[in-house]
Amino acid sequence: MLKAYKYRLIPNKEQREMINKHIGGCRFVYNWALETKIKYYQEANQKLSAYDLNYMLTELKNENEWLKDVYSQSLQQANKNMESAFTKFFREKAGFPKFKSKKNPVQSFQIPQHYKVNFDKNIIKLPKIGELKAVLHRAFEGKLKTATLSRTSTGKYFISILVDDGKEVPEKPKFTEQSTIGVDVGIKDFAVLSNGEKIDNPKYLKKSLKRLKVVQKQVSKKVKGSNNRKKAIKRLAKIHEKVTNQRTDFQHKVSSRLISENQAIAFETLKVKNMVKNHSLAQAINDASWSSFITKMEYKAEWYGKTILRIGQFEPSTKLCNVCGYHNKDITLEIREWVCPECKTKHDRDINAAINIKKFALQDQNLIVI
Ligand SMILES: [Zn+2]
Repeated sequence: MLKAYKYRLIPNKEQREMINKHIGGCRFVYNWALETKIKYYQEANQKLSAYDLNYMLTELKNENEWLKDVYSQSLQQANKNMESAFTKFFREKAGFPKFKSKKNPVQSFQIPQHYKVNFDKNIIKLPKIGELKAVLHRAFEGKLKTATLSRTSTGKYFISILVDDGKEVPEKPKFTEQSTIGVDVGIKDFAVLSNGEKIDNPKYLKKSLKRLKVVQKQVSKKVKGSNNRKKAIKRLAKIHEKVTNQRTDFQHKVSSRLISENQAIAFETLKVKNMVKNHSLAQAINDASWSSFITKMEYKAEWYGKTILRIGQFEPSTKLCNVCGYHNKDITLEIREWVCPECKTKHDRDINAAINIKKFALQDQNLIVI
């Protein structure tokens, strides 16, 4: 069974430069791979695989000498990641793969193998980068799989190590209508459940989000390139990081509870339309948050032998009466409650959607098989 362990890294100046070079190099290769794949498809109707791109990588490295300082397997991993973004796009009808931006708050790259962890000395040895000090607060046993190095917006470095503990994945027991729950993204709440429960974001998180909005405005008002702007950007990065940490804690609590209370959990895939529309940073974090929440649910389900049912987005999840099936075309975003004209059932918009998601998932409608 695979489990991830995350540790703080304390690189020295030289190591920081090397990590940053790796981050930049892998982002460069990922974007090149995406561009090349699109180009070959459009111009020659040819579908390049990660294998083809790895082959072409040699030429790219000759044209860009600096890439030779970056661990070659990390660069190849960037090609692989780009390919999985495409697989996800086709299989889950998720958003079209995006180019990676320097501006993303968290920057990362991966090392698939050939690194070492020394718990006695609190050291992690990475290819091309060397021996780094690390805070190895808890040990693990098992086979090292891919490691992900990340740099946060406030300049902290972390490593997340995927470990295979060699244990069998627990068998998934059969689930029933009773032991299944449907979960929908709420408009006001974090999540809404088919049993009528609404899970709101905790107060402390809302407070931080408000603060995030305020500081974001301050940044946009400051003159570009000014020292005041730089200071405000630093402050923004700090709050951003705080929000991310608070959210992660909250998501762990909610996901653990949902997993322990149910045998199966049904979701609808993230609404791509909403993601394209969002302009504000706070909204972007919200959307990213939902997908990281689903990721947590998915791996916890594996650990504890629970089933995740994912259905493709179906437009009328909020418009369909879950009792009689009446399709109410008049439901707009503003309408929070409605009465079914056919069977007279009174609906809460989000709870009705969550019930529909559960129903569809149990009837194998629109089900995404992963
Ligand atoms: Zn009805």
